[in-house]
Amino acid sequence: AGARSVTILGATGSIGASTLDLIEREPERYDVVALTAHRNVAELADAARRTRARFAAVADVACGPELADALAGSGIATGAGPEALVEAARMGADWTMAAIVGCAGLAPTMAALEGGRTVALANKEALVSAGALMTAAARAHGATLLPVDSEHNAIFQCFPHDAPERVRRILLTASGGPFRTMDREAMRGMTPAQAVKHPNWSMGTKISVDSATLMNKGLELIEAAHLFPVPLDRFEIVVHPQSVIHSMVETIDGSVLAQLGLPDMRVPISYTLAWPERMATPCTGLDFAALGRLDFEAPDPVRFPALTLTRDAMAAGGAKPAILNAANEVAVAAFLEGRAGFLDITEIVLKTLERYDPPAPGTLNEVLGIDARAREVARGALETMVA
Ligand code: NDP
Ligand code: MG
Repeated sequence: AGARSVTILGATGSIGASTLDLIEREPERYDVVALTAHRNVAELADAARRTRARFAAVADVACGPELADALAGSGIATGAGPEALVEAARMGADWTMAAIVGCAGLAPTMAALEGGRTVALANKEALVSAGALMTAAARAHGATLLPVDSEHNAIFQCFPHDAPERVRRILLTASGGPFRTMDREAMRGMTPAQAVKHPNWSMGTKISVDSATLMNKGLELIEAAHLFPVPLDRFEIVVHPQSVIHSMVETIDGSVLAQLGLPDMRVPISYTLAWPERMATPCTGLDFAALGRLDFEAPDPVRFPALTLTRDAMAAGGAKPAILNAANEVAVAAFLEGRAGFLDITEIVLKTLERYDPPAPGTLNEVLGIDARAREVARGALETMVA
């Protein structure tokens, strides 16, 4: 067989770097079609040259000339602006990694699904905002949607795909984040530097803040409900501080199947690259004797209101998950820039959900419109709170 063509949306991020690491170990097996970034021209150009990509694109139009300069004479075509990312996604790669952070990844990820090939999905915000549209597009175009998020990848590995009615419960594990044992009053003063210090995983800043509020686990609950045909009330969250069990599936006979491993995103990424086979990786397995023990506890929805907010938004459906996601993106950005406190994040999300209640979106453009309006409402909520 010839080389497999691959595209990485969000190539300069944490997931993008792990994906490039796997691909660059066996360059003869992959033909890199397109790589994208937001503004990180230097890293994007470097990765494009190393992998001899055909096309490189930045989302920020203002970075276009700099990217063209950086790749002048390389034979690599360049593009800039949100349409250039959609163009990258439409180039027909066999396998596309969707690893843009936030709702900004929705349009290119949809474009990749419409190509009818394989999409490895890390961009959970896209699925939260437009899950029904995305899974429908995958079905309509015959695309294969493979979850990269470690929990969903674990569930995918344990799930009885031909008999989902055999599932009694899905247990989504959560590390609990850096503030797992902290009381709410102490959380109030937590800084961005403290919030992004995840105990087990090294990730981008946005998802690291989400892990501290447990919004990440809530977004993952919504993500899981879209990916696996199981009623929402059968999904449970269990706090497991070591992040060794990545998630579990309990079947009707009382068996519990789990996928375990060290926290290294190259494992689930490699699974999506090799699926339905497996590929060798440099990732080590587990030394159980050294590990000694695994701990579990119930999640605390009082200290972490994001858990209830997300479950309620998913149960209500319609526009709620898209509004929740947009408000959270605004709130996390404000927190990282020092314009909001840590506890304000879930407060802004709650207020936005209370103040904005549009009808359910039926198209991608309607989702994007709701996302844009929810951001305005969230900024308004932020202003009244800090004033
Ligand atoms: P990073 O912040 O490390 O990287 C984000 C990537 O998206 C970068 O390539 C960035 O480009 C690009 N990007 C950012 N904003 C935009 C925009 N507005 N338009 C287009 N591209 C943009 O994030 P992660 O790699 O940590 O996460 C990526 C996704 O994967 C997220 O949805 C996250 O929730 C999910 N995920 C991540 C995990 C992890 O371990 N990191 C685990 C599970 C899920 P630039 O570098 O130019 O800013
Ligand atoms: Mg995860």
